[in-house]
Amino acid sequence: MGSVNRQGWQQSIGARLPWLGSEVDALPLQQPRWLGWSDSLAQQLDLHADDELLALFAGQRSLPWSGFAQVYSGHQFGGYTPRLGDGRGMLLGMRNGFELFAKGSGPTPYSRGGDGRAVLRSAVREFLASEALHHLGIRTTRALAVLGSTTPVQRETRETAAITVRVTRSHLRFGHFEYFHYSGQPQQLHALLDDSIAEHFPHLLDGDNPRAQWLTEVVQRSAETVADWQAFGFCHGVLNSDNMSVLGETFDYGPFAFLNQFDSRYVCNHSDHHGRYAFEQQPGVVMWNLTKLATALSSLLTEAQISAALASYEPVLVARYVERMGARLGIVQPQPEDLALISELLSAMQQQQADYHLTLRQLAEVDPNRKACPLLAGEEMQQWWQRYQQRLGPIDDVAQWQQQRRQANPAIILRTHLAQEAIAAAEQGDNGPLQRLHDALTRPYDPQPQDHPYCQEAPPWSQSLTLSCSS
Ligand code: AMP
Ligand code: MG
Repeated sequence: MGSVNRQGWQQSIGARLPWLGSEVDALPLQQPRWLGWSDSLAQQLDLHADDELLALFAGQRSLPWSGFAQVYSGHQFGGYTPRLGDGRGMLLGMRNGFELFAKGSGPTPYSRGGDGRAVLRSAVREFLASEALHHLGIRTTRALAVLGSTTPVQRETRETAAITVRVTRSHLRFGHFEYFHYSGQPQQLHALLDDSIAEHFPHLLDGDNPRAQWLTEVVQRSAETVADWQAFGFCHGVLNSDNMSVLGETFDYGPFAFLNQFDSRYVCNHSDHHGRYAFEQQPGVVMWNLTKLATALSSLLTEAQISAALASYEPVLVARYVERMGARLGIVQPQPEDLALISELLSAMQQQQADYHLTLRQLAEVDPNRKACPLLAGEEMQQWWQRYQQRLGPIDDVAQWQQQRRQANPAIILRTHLAQEAIAAAEQGDNGPLQRLHDALTRPYDPQPQDHPYCQEAPPWSQSLTLSCSS
């Protein structure tokens, strides 16, 4: 296997902390091809979609060092699994402070009998979702590229292997800290925490207690991210602690979905039989995962430090949620007291089976000074409209108010059926729909004609689409 030009590349975290995982080599994909490419991220990384890079991502060529698969553990659906790890991917190296990870690159010591592959549909979904959330303004890992191939993969049916190139400043998960805590390796635990602080939280080094402050910051970033999910109707689907990033980024896309009709109990993952990761459970489950992270740090922090860090979760969650929903509804300086107004609207949507995104976007187009709201049916909703108007106060410049709200209410959302249509075409060798959808998702707030196919409610056929952990 030949080496690619190493200019601009650095070795990954494995060169600093070799006990964090294992050196691995990729199992090359057959006949790799580009399916998707993020130009804006490529510019940040100073990379071009040439044949050499395709060969690197596909495992046909390498950098002058091996790939690195990390070890971690985690709480999966509430139960502790003592050893997980990158079972189907590896860090290739770093560029401009970002780690590049090839997801689907073949088996590793952590594959636990799996084939180390990702299928096209899941690789494309991760690519689209990472870019969609990023452009909505939600913290997330990003995706530089997605590759297809002719390598066969067996799932329920025969599919083809693909690779997503995931990009983030740090791939550390809550589960990394759990692994070193529960396997009785305190020195590694300390070193990992100190490495994370030095590399990614250097501003904490000047403070009194960087380790305690680190936990507080992870708590607060996680609270902000889950608040954003709730505000934008995003359901992660598998909020296991090994899928939680210490940077507070949305991480490890699997059976995720954006809501269509508003339903607080919505469960997107068909393998989640008890609704543990239902939409309305997400804030509680993220908090639960944070308590697991805190437990993993219990040899390093006092109980008082842990309690103080965890106590900051709820106020940050509420403040961020009302901030984002306030922007969506055009409320100036939203307060926690506005939660009541917001939840009344959500209950009405739930009752009327209204589409979450369309309702909010259309509401932004209604003149707030109108006596009655044409969008929402029923006496109760008209009363809500009046309470809302009282909260808004008089709006003099309606055009400007509406313009601001368009910037807070996306016209285009990555609905499951849109991803599915792009996947079906890509599976047939046509990348056009995927590229067009990706392009639109990079400008989600731009005005669109009402009949734009990306701006419609989910069609009835899409209700039978099922998403599971099989990927
Ligand atoms: P995920 O559901 O993608 O978060 O994966 C959970 C764990 O299973 C991680 O340790 C993955 O690396 C591993 N895993 C998932 N799919 C595969 C696969 N096809 N082959 C090997 N390991 C896998
Ligand atoms: Mg995972």
